Amino acid sequence: MTFKGGKFIWHNGQVVNWNDAKVHVLSHALHYGSSVFEGIRLYKTSSGPKIFRLTDHIKRLFNSAKIYRMKIPYSESDIVNACKNITTENELINGAYIRPIAFRGYGEIGLAPKDDHNIDVSIAAWEWGAYLGNDALKDGVEVCVSSWQRVAPNTIPTMAKAGGNYLSSTLISTEAKRLGFDEGIALSTDGKVSEGAGENLFLVKNGEILTPPASSGILTGITRDTVIRLSDKIGLAVKEAEINRETLYLADEMFFTGTAAEITPIRSVDRIIVGNGKRGEITKRLQDEFFGLFSGKMSDPNNWLEDI
Ligand code: PMP
Repeated sequence: MTFKGGKFIWHNGQVVNWNDAKVHVLSHALHYGSSVFEGIRLYKTSSGPKIFRLTDHIKRLFNSAKIYRMKIPYSESDIVNACKNITTENELINGAYIRPIAFRGYGEIGLAPKDDHNIDVSIAAWEWGAYLGNDALKDGVEVCVSSWQRVAPNTIPTMAKAGGNYLSSTLISTEAKRLGFDEGIALSTDGKVSEGAGENLFLVKNGEILTPPASSGILTGITRDTVIRLSDKIGLAVKEAEINRETLYLADEMFFTGTAAEITPIRSVDRIIVGNGKRGEITKRLQDEFFGLFSGKMSDPNNWLEDI
């Protein structure tokens, strides 16, 4: 089964059987992409199962909804608790992916939904391992710069994690895979490096860590924020900077961040080897800090690990 371990789904306040969480074909979101969602990980840690930065993810879900003037008919803490509840119902204690989604449901189909258009909310959760493959975390992935650019500012807001944005991500990712790469990186419409199809991007050059700013059309990732703060902790401040395409080719190290990708090294871009083609030292140090949170080797002063 694609969704291993998924037995129940939280659907509009009820826990229903996996196969009973259904929507009408005339749901607004199905036609116009009017959904907002999150991807969250549950880790098996040395102190039991914990959900990583759950509260921050749910805050971003509500912020995405706010941008689209969608009123989620639950409070943030209702949804936080529902995420915990559905992982417990599914007995997911060994590592899982949690997917809350709020969307304009069945009602009118017009392009200007009324304020009272119903917002449906569902939360699924299932067992999950490494997104870009088990070896990717150590050996890295091969990426290309996509022929598809990220959506331009003032077209579709990239800071909202909305369903419609993922048409862009799908074009980038499928093109990359069709050409034999693991993933694609998009440039912004002004030609600056933006992000991967579903990941933020960092590079290291002469000991300095760089990442594109929000103005380069990125989703401001929660793992990106985590890495910025972990870099600070180890005395390597990250600089947000506009990055040219060719800077990618000259980087000493490069890596993706994301809930799914975690911290995944990049070993080549457009078949040009990054650094020595192996996971870089700084990348490894940041991975140790990050995965150390779950193994218990590192402390968690920010309380990023939330109890279920
Ligand atoms: N950019 C895009 C387009 C994404 O879909 C994701 C995954 N949510 C990210 C970046 C990384 O964000 P996060 O670290 O919050 O998962």
